[in-house]
Amino acid sequence: MKNVLPLMVIAASLVVARSGAQAPPKDEHVNEVPAPKTAPRVVTPGASLGAAPSDAIVLFDGKDLSQWENEKGGSPALWTVADGVATVKAGTGGIRTKRGFGDVQLHIEWATPAEVKGEGQERGNSGVFLQSTYELQVLDSYQNETYWHGSAGSIYKQHAPLVNASRKPGEWQTYDVVYHSPAFDSDGKLTRRARFTVLHNGVLIQDNVEVMGVTTHTGPPYYKAHPDKMPLSLQDHGVPIRFRNIWIREL
Ligand code: MG
Repeated sequence: MKNVLPLMVIAASLVVARSGAQAPPKDEHVNEVPAPKTAPRVVTPGASLGAAPSDAIVLFDGKDLSQWENEKGGSPALWTVADGVATVKAGTGGIRTKRGFGDVQLHIEWATPAEVKGEGQERGNSGVFLQSTYELQVLDSYQNETYWHGSAGSIYKQHAPLVNASRKPGEWQTYDVVYHSPAFDSDGKLTRRARFTVLHNGVLIQDNVEVMGVTTHTGPPYYKAHPDKMPLSLQDHGVPIRFRNIWIREL
């Protein structure tokens, strides 16, 4: 009996440690679509990056943000452009393309700061908003726990990525996206939901998923009618996320 008690203590602590690892991250809100209870499996991506094909509209070639404006419209994009890279200038607001898009194939490269600051949603947050409405999350998700449908490659607060193909902080990463816009009838009633297919660093992470509606931080997603073509926008979440080599193909 003397030797049994310490064993029981060890066994009990193992159970606690195990269940602790399974617990939902603490930054999840109590509402909306419940987050998956397990982390996306980690996959190490290959090394290649995508150059623009001949029929692509190049939205950022490293030189300037002439194809972009402030997300509010009418004023210039104020993010920093240097060394072929556009960097979020915190506090200046998001940026959006001057022209609108419907169904598209999109390629975009991004990197979170090499120096890790904060945790969860505070770590390397930005976002790619298709039609300025539906967010494909940008986050430093390398060994960074958060609610999984808010991690890198999630359709924010709706669909967690199938796997976690994140590179290390500071390293360049790619998203290749096939996006189909929603459709609304003349009364503004939804007739077709938007859909996303996404490859993160060449790895399939969203497989033709149906968008539940407008990206919301709190409260359930919902659809609100909008024009067939809307700008692509990038989020200023207060972190100097870098972007480069952005091109799009209309489908
Ligand atoms: Mg974001």
